[in-house]
Amino acid sequence: MNDVRLLSIVVPCYNEAPCVDLFLAAIRALPLKFAVEYVFVDDGSTDETLARIKAAAAGDPQVRYVSFSRNFGKEAALLAGLEHATGDLVVTMDVDLQHRPELLPEMVRAIVEEGYDSVATRRTNRTGEPIVRSWFAHRFYALMNRYSDVQLVDGSMDYRMMTRRVVDAVVRLQEANRFTKGIYQWVGFRTKWIEAENAERVAGVSKWSFFSLLGYSVRGMLAFSTAPLQLASVLGLCCCGGSFAYMAYIFVKWVIYGDPVAGWPTIMCAVLLLGGLQLFVIGILGTYLAGISREIKRRPLYVVKESR
Ligand code: UDP
Ligand code: MG
Repeated sequence: MNDVRLLSIVVPCYNEAPCVDLFLAAIRALPLKFAVEYVFVDDGSTDETLARIKAAAAGDPQVRYVSFSRNFGKEAALLAGLEHATGDLVVTMDVDLQHRPELLPEMVRAIVEEGYDSVATRRTNRTGEPIVRSWFAHRFYALMNRYSDVQLVDGSMDYRMMTRRVVDAVVRLQEANRFTKGIYQWVGFRTKWIEAENAERVAGVSKWSFFSLLGYSVRGMLAFSTAPLQLASVLGLCCCGGSFAYMAYIFVKWVIYGDPVAGWPTIMCAVLLLGGLQLFVIGILGTYLAGISREIKRRPLYVVKESR
């Protein structure tokens, strides 16, 4: 890329009133040599967030916004931001300043001078995060990388800069179950990874609980892997193998000792184990089915209340 005319900064916000002005101040303090456009996405906030954004927009024509009719989630907010951004470079950032703005010049340089199509960040540490959560996060990345269509980078953040052609590719994927980390990998292009530390939030609270993250990882798996479906065949094969061995054992026992009537514990165990396995596998099928039924409705991924 030769030069940057306009950098769009896409910022999803959900109940982040105290952060909006702090965020703008932090970006404006940077010595950037090109025009910047802010695309705030108000994800159905119930606090003063939209009012703060509008106040900022009133004093600065470069501040634009999209406001949702309700909370549609961060993935939808990111999509809306990317769709509304007009810059030849686009960066997505959290409004809580956990994505440090000081990295922006370095990211731009990687694209303009080194010829990358996107620059992504990964955190080097998970300080401040509960140990159990980190453990599950690592397991999730290991599982995804082994069994899914995409290779994810452990610790990758939603702080990413892209050229126009990457944004256009990302926006073309209109699936209802959006898992952006997977989508970025899926579209390809040359990506530079830079390391960033885990900064503390400037104000407000995190919107993610352990269980919402767990749900998010299950949806991520669903979006990019069919491996759980194959699990049914594997489990079935194991059961068959076990049954054949057991049949041989019973036969030999019958030949040697005759046929004593015994074995209701064995039957109970077999019935319960198989019943449990079947329910488990039906559960996996159901999860995929739910995914399909959601996709097939083709509902819009967000509804805009107002925008500028
Ligand atoms: N966010 C959003 N919609 C939601 C939840 C979060 O737009 O339903 C935004 C939020 O305002 C913030 C970013 O996504 O700018 C990251 O959220 P948060 O800081 O709560 O996540 P964490 O940093 O704890 O992972
Ligand atoms: Mg945060």
